[in-house]
Amino acid sequence: MDTTRPMPLTQPWSKKFWEGCREGCLLIQRCQDCQNNIFYPRKFCPECWSGNLNWIEAGGRGRIHTFSTAYDMVEPRFWEDLPYTIAYVDLEEGVRMMTRIVDCRPEDIHMDMEVEVVFHKLNDEFHLPYFRPVKG
Ligand SMILES: [Zn+2]
Repeated sequence: MDTTRPMPLTQPWSKKFWEGCREGCLLIQRCQDCQNNIFYPRKFCPECWSGNLNWIEAGGRGRIHTFSTAYDMVEPRFWEDLPYTIAYVDLEEGVRMMTRIVDCRPEDIHMDMEVEVVFHKLNDEFHLPYFRPVKG
């Protein structure tokens, strides 16, 4: 049974994103021609096809657009994580990220819930941006 965790596949244009995660910064791209904010990392702006992209640090806050909690029936290499919740989070910067919701019970998660980024260290190279409920 393969219990090896899958690692993110990196591309030259996503390297900066992973560097940011290691330093506790959630970086997204911004198109310098049309000012569109972009996530996931790309070579070209999906709005205007410009390659003139820079990086900005996102505030790390957003709201849950939708989510799904796995209680069973996942690959063996994820069994130890059960139950876990995968969500789409809409950041305040206007981009949507697929992520995990952590630090709360699955039954307390709801759509439009306010969440903030928290970095989960997978190994020295990858710190995954997960989200947890904003307290208070
Ligand atoms: Zn653009």
